[in-house]
Amino acid sequence: MTSKKNSHISTDLIHHGYTPPAEFDSPQPGTFKASTVFFPNVAAMRQREWKDKSAYTYGTHGTPTSFTLEERLCTLEGGKHCVLTPSGLSALAVASFAVLKTGDHVLLPDNSYGPNKTLAEGELTSFGISHTYYDAMDPQDLASKIQSNTQLVWLEAPGSVSMEFPDLIELVKICQSRQILTALDNTWGAGLAFKPFDLLGNGSLSVGLTAHALTKYPSGGGDVLMGSVMTCDDALALKLKMTMMRLGICVGPNDVESILRSLPTIALRYASQDRCARQLASWWKDQKACVQVLHPAIEGSPGHSHWQALCAPNGDQGHAAGLFSVMLHPSFTQTQVDAFCDSLKLFKLGYSWGGPFSLVVPYKIENMRSHWPSHLHQGHLVRFSTGFEDPQDLILDLSQGAKQCLNF
Ligand SMILES: *Cc1c(COP(=O)(O)O)cnc(C)c1O
Repeated sequence: MTSKKNSHISTDLIHHGYTPPAEFDSPQPGTFKASTVFFPNVAAMRQREWKDKSAYTYGTHGTPTSFTLEERLCTLEGGKHCVLTPSGLSALAVASFAVLKTGDHVLLPDNSYGPNKTLAEGELTSFGISHTYYDAMDPQDLASKIQSNTQLVWLEAPGSVSMEFPDLIELVKICQSRQILTALDNTWGAGLAFKPFDLLGNGSLSVGLTAHALTKYPSGGGDVLMGSVMTCDDALALKLKMTMMRLGICVGPNDVESILRSLPTIALRYASQDRCARQLASWWKDQKACVQVLHPAIEGSPGHSHWQALCAPNGDQGHAAGLFSVMLHPSFTQTQVDAFCDSLKLFKLGYSWGGPFSLVVPYKIENMRSHWPSHLHQGHLVRFSTGFEDPQDLILDLSQGAKQCLNF
């Protein structure tokens, strides 16, 4: 295409001829950026429909780049519809806002990702939506807390920070029998450890929707924030889209491009960080300073048999994220535990996981739960996430830190 000469350079530059590249088949899809999308005529402008993704109308409703990522994420998690949000937490918020209204009740596991509880205590409460926490390790506790106005049950497997693995299948069955929508925070499983939309492998049991912090494994870089909400239900997908539209929530194509670039290696990265985390967790099992290892794939960890049933149903190694916690001996002081975390050289202090750096965070469980869970030993909890360093180097780092700070 050639540009027609106008009298001003600005006009010429803006109306410059451009033909998208033909025969340019390459590993990464192109990154398409737009707020404005042009229509060929007014009739097209009036006709185009964004809700079913049959056409482009405006940047907030999606671009070829965001649609590509949504489709690939559906392939990853096994869902049918996907929306992208600017962070994992905003994915949780969009899901709750899309399905809850004043007068409704929502159930959350007491061991859920902390900010989801904070959202329930803040905005949901102020909008007249009540919530109750249930013990994810006790399906009867969930059953007994369902009310006539309960519209949504949040699920997480395993629990945040304390890493106990619930009987997810039983929890979903209870909600299904009461016809209550289930929402799974699927960040840990990432679509790789188990199939949230086909929990039994025979098409008979599914969660209603998943929320996923793409910030973690799909990004893999520790440098992008994004989230997704996914479902197989057409009506629910429309509700999600309408909530996104009304709140003006969308994502930037450059961030989408980063996730698209990382996505092809997600299974390799997940498996590598899983292997490393199991090696480190096994090392901790032999340390006197450690009274409990909390890693669902490690025998003796709370909910290990539930993890096995869901994530290793064939009796093989199964799948788990590169994330685990240890309970350090209660006789240590918090100062000693903090000094141990500070003494580590390869493990960085920082939140999130799934990136190249191994991370460590000391947590105070007593500030995060309604009560100290009975399956957790008393002590000081420290959470680790594995990066891509060599496991032997990481173990040497843990050894020097423990020798220096965790002596009795
Ligand atoms: C990190 C995380 C989130 C939130 O993701 P952000 O992108 O950091 O907002 C939600 N749920 C779980 C389980 C997470 O680990």
